[in-house]
Amino acid sequence: MTSTAVGDRTELERARQDFQQQLLAAGLLVDTAVPGLYGRSGEFEDIVDGIDRVVVAAGPGAAATRLRFPPVFPRTSFERTDYIASFPHLTGAVTTFAGTNAEHAELLAARARGEAWDAWLEPADTVLVSAACHPAYAKYSGTLREGGELLDVYGYCFRHEPAIDPARMQAFRMHEFVRLGTADDAAQHRDTWIGRGLEVLDSLGLDATAVPANDPFFGRAGRMLAANQRHENLKTELTVRLYGDLDDGTAVVSCNCHRDHFGDTFGIVTPDGEVAHSACVGFGMERIALAMLRTHGLAVGNWPDSVRNRMFP
Ligand code: ZN
Repeated sequence: MTSTAVGDRTELERARQDFQQQLLAAGLLVDTAVPGLYGRSGEFEDIVDGIDRVVVAAGPGAAATRLRFPPVFPRTSFERTDYIASFPHLTGAVTTFAGTNAEHAELLAARARGEAWDAWLEPADTVLVSAACHPAYAKYSGTLREGGELLDVYGYCFRHEPAIDPARMQAFRMHEFVRLGTADDAAQHRDTWIGRGLEVLDSLGLDATAVPANDPFFGRAGRMLAANQRHENLKTELTVRLYGDLDDGTAVVSCNCHRDHFGDTFGIVTPDGEVAHSACVGFGMERIALAMLRTHGLAVGNWPDSVRNRMFP
């Protein structure tokens, strides 16, 4: 048993590395000095834009408030997400130099000696965006309007997880539709988007499956959080098999119900005075693009017409 498992694992790692090398050789992704961090070619961006057209067409359109945030957001908002409690290992915080001339000279001397100079940096007031929806909640602290809010948020996220698997990038985009409102509003949003998300993926020619999921919470306490998340069925992922039977598939869309977590930490209440509930569906744009390249091949010109016509009308 053990040797089979080890064999499969090696085979899986090889499959991931092969795919990564194919993408780099085709010029779709641009290698950097850091594993899991890539530049994108114009052709890759065209694919992402095409996918986004299909996602937006399935979305709420003008019914949603469109919000775009930079790739960093206030540390005060990051605090309120509680992300550091669950995912300290994925976090990226911005540091900067705020010292004196003398301290700068010390930094440069250390640098000239080939030593680490980070010790002279201190926390800035920004953190890399942990999930596309996270910067949005602070805007809604207070009482929601009647009917709550429906948001369209699209932006870069950061997760510190260096990996060979091109589907596990450190910086990637999520296009999210977020609902803020009553418990029913949030639950309904989450449930509706499981089906609608599967339709979007199907229209892109992807064979996706909805699976109950749990996040990679950190540490011993994290195992309990993960069990709770699974038990309460708060997160459903839509997965596509990029590597055949070698793993359980790659999550390309996630449908999350946060219950009253963000309502509580950001002080958001419904007009009835209840703590607001929230839910979001997030389309992982790079992962969907990679799933399509894996499924339809690296030459976009050869993709099925039905798919191309939807993406590039
Ligand atoms: Zn979200």
